Amino acid sequence: MLYIHMTKIQDLAIYDGEIVPLKDARLSITSSAVLYGLSVYSVVYAHKAESGFILFRLDRHLQRLAQSAKLIGFSVNESLTTYELVKDQIHKLLRSTKPEASQFIRITIHAADSLPGIKTKNDKYILSIFSHEAKNIMPQNGARIKTSQWRRTADTAIPARAKVNGAYVNSALAKQDAINSGYDDCLFLNNQEYVSELSAANIFLIKDNKLITPDISSDILEGITRRSIIEIAAELQIPTIERKVALTELYTANEVFACGTSAFVSPIIEIDNRVVGDGLPGEITTKIRTILQERQSDARHEWNTLI
Ligand code: PMP
Repeated sequence: MLYIHMTKIQDLAIYDGEIVPLKDARLSITSSAVLYGLSVYSVVYAHKAESGFILFRLDRHLQRLAQSAKLIGFSVNESLTTYELVKDQIHKLLRSTKPEASQFIRITIHAADSLPGIKTKNDKYILSIFSHEAKNIMPQNGARIKTSQWRRTADTAIPARAKVNGAYVNSALAKQDAINSGYDDCLFLNNQEYVSELSAANIFLIKDNKLITPDISSDILEGITRRSIIEIAAELQIPTIERKVALTELYTANEVFACGTSAFVSPIIEIDNRVVGDGLPGEITTKIRTILQERQSDARHEWNTLI
């Protein structure tokens, strides 16, 4: 067991199909992945239950991983992201590491050719998997966020729809600024000045008992938690509107929350020094958060894979 910045990391990883000590899962400094940030990834929540680990929407994560690879032009063999194959590898990893708590499992495809020039088509792609303790990246009693002066990368520059490692320079720039200014996270607008997302989470607002969230042409990652919340809200008969969202709509919302695999459902209580609603985690936000938690710990639900 390793600790990095107070987070417990399992010390074994899957690297190119083999289980290896984490310290030996290394990419060359000459690889496309290291030189140009050419890797695609997804993080899956694995809830620790008595019967094993419950993986939330593994199928969706693998579909998105394959789509990210395709979108940026990786000539990766489809079999690399096959559900059964990846599930087996995760099984192997969890059986070997036996984590004591719920985990975030990071699955990455790295472009691994050496000095290929600046191009996404490589001969060799490596799949890696490692896991660490599932700690929420946002405060649970209400986050404070700040609109960034950095804009979300445009779909015509680096599509946010593709979860590409290199694109996270954009998130890191904005999040560091937010932290330096004493906030928990940044809020991205896109180049049309509409609300996009946070550094690693999607955003919803609630107004008049309806959910509103930036649509998938607002330069967002098509979050799996976002989609799940829209489906859960429909079950609760709460309508969701996906559309362009202006920043001032957030300022006047009844409730605002962030969502994502590592943010779960996290209430936002302050944006740009303006208090959201009454400054406390909202009623609908709290309800959706509770239902998502229940769903993620329900081994029998069709969204989940028990390992
Ligand atoms: N947007 C960005 C930029 C992210 O990094 C994430 C985290 N993966 C999300 C949204 C939320 O996506 P998901 O619910 O699939 O984790």
